[in-house]
Order: sequence, then structure tokens, then C-alpha cells
Amino acid sequence: MKRAIGIDLGATKAAIGLVDSSGNVLEKISIPTGKVKKAPEIIEDILHALQPMVLKQKISGIGIGIAGQINPQTGIVIDAPNLDWHDFPIVKAISQKLQIPVHITNDVRAATLAEWLYGDGKGCKHLVCVFIGTGIGGGIVADGKLQQGSSYTFGEIGHMSVNFHGPRCACGNIGCVEAFAGGASLANRAKDEISVNAQYGKILLQKVGQDVQKITAKTLVEGYRENENLSKKILDQAILALTTASINLVNVLNPEKLLFSGGVVLGFPEMLDPIEKGVRQYALPAAVKHLKIGQCKLKNDAGIIGSAALSF
Ligand SMILES: [Zn+2]
Repeated sequence: MKRAIGIDLGATKAAIGLVDSSGNVLEKISIPTGKVKKAPEIIEDILHALQPMVLKQKISGIGIGIAGQINPQTGIVIDAPNLDWHDFPIVKAISQKLQIPVHITNDVRAATLAEWLYGDGKGCKHLVCVFIGTGIGGGIVADGKLQQGSSYTFGEIGHMSVNFHGPRCACGNIGCVEAFAGGASLANRAKDEISVNAQYGKILLQKVGQDVQKITAKTLVEGYRENENLSKKILDQAILALTTASINLVNVLNPEKLLFSGGVVLGFPEMLDPIEKGVRQYALPAAVKHLKIGQCKLKNDAGIIGSAALSF
């Protein structure tokens, strides 16, 4: 059985795993990343960390999923704002030190690849995966191929605008689904509301020792489950935004499965019921007839597994 190394390279850490061609993670380590370190230094740390795995056995390749805009053909990280990397030739940087093939893709596309090959999307010709964490990303398989787009932005589901009168998104556009339902936006929306009317956030503030900065998406989920007004308002809007985006995705892409994952989904899985209900009610009947909606099967290791799979 073939083995490869998969690296899920994020803003705070790089998760590095040894994965076999059946999608099993055999070994796993994690090292810190962050903006403080420059790209060559992080590469140096990664190479050092994965050395024991490479020395022990024959490796088919190294795959890396990176949060940002990636060109898999040239091996260049075009733009990874969370790491502050711009036009960085990562494949060249690693290939110079290790004589092993290196492949890269966007981190969410890698997680989609894992779900498609080894998870609940197995066997689908048409699949949409939506990942809701700090931000919102997605991956789309259409006609049996994981799509990249003409400039590698295919699947940027978080930046579908669902409300012209909605909040401003970090990307500059208005009413993106990420601005309503991404984990960071959820917390920021609560903070904004409380800054206008502290009384409104009284119960939430109690949960965080009166320190408004400590409010997170998790605080809102707790509030939602206790029927707290502000949490209900913000999360109901998030569910509506996700429902609208899902209806559009289903109508436009006609997938067999629409699967969700990411920290917000794992912490608030009950959001999927109203989303599914809305999609079944308002999407085109022909588009929902055979559609399955649910959670991704692979959880935290999807990025590692999908990145490694680039080498199989
Ligand atoms: Zn946006």
C-alpha cells in the first residue's frame, strides 16, 4: 500500500500526517506556524518535523493544503493572507531540500478531496462540501472532477453574497454568507450589537465575566440553546444566510450530496435541520429529488488525508 505525507497548513499550526492510500492516518504531529515566522522558516520547521516519517519508509509524495489562493500547476502560494505569504514558491522551496514529489492545493479543496475519496462523498459525481469555521470555505466536485476554476477560486462559497443589505465582509463585498455565519463574524456581530446596547447582551456578558471581547461563536450557541434573544437573532440570521446560499448551490450545481463540516457545524449541528428544511422547500424540486444533506464523515483529519491524497 502506498504512503504519503499530508500537511494541513493553517494560520496557527501545521498538522502533518503519514497517510496510507486507503485514507488512514498512521502517524500525526503538529507544529506552530503564525505570521511571526517568515515562510522559509516555517518550511524549515516542517521539514525538520517530517524527517522521521520520511526516513522510516518509502513515501510516494508530500501534499500540502494551504488556506489561501493556490496555484497547483506552478506550485506557488499566490496569496495566503492568514500566513502573510504572497507569491511564495513553496513546492520549489521543499523540492530543493527533499527529493520527493510535492503537490499543493487550497486547504478546503484538500478536505473536500478527502471526503470525496474516503468519506461520505465517496462515489459521488457531483458533490458540494461547505466548511464553516472561523471563515467559510467550500469544495465542489462536478462531473467527477474536483474543480479549481480559471484562477483557483472555485468553491469560495463563503463569499456568495446572500443579502444586498447585509453586513460588510472582510473581502470588501456586502452580505457574504461568511459575514453572517463564519465563526469570527458571529462573535463580531454580537460584539457590535452589545456596543450599541449593552442591556441587549446582558445574559451573554454574564457568560464571559462581563468581558465582551471573550464572546465567541460558542458563547452564542450556548445562548441559543437557552433561548437567549441576541444569540437567537444572530444565529437565526446565520441559518437563513446558509439556507439561501445552499438553495443557490443546489439549484446551480445540482449535487448528489451537500455536506457540511468545520468547527461551527460540529459545535452547532442542529443548524443543519432548518437549512435542510429550507432547501427542500425552496430549491427546484428536480434539484432536491435525489439530494442528500448531512455532515461530512471525516472530521479534523480531512485536511491531512486530502493533502496526502494529492500524491496517490
Ligand atoms: Zn466576502
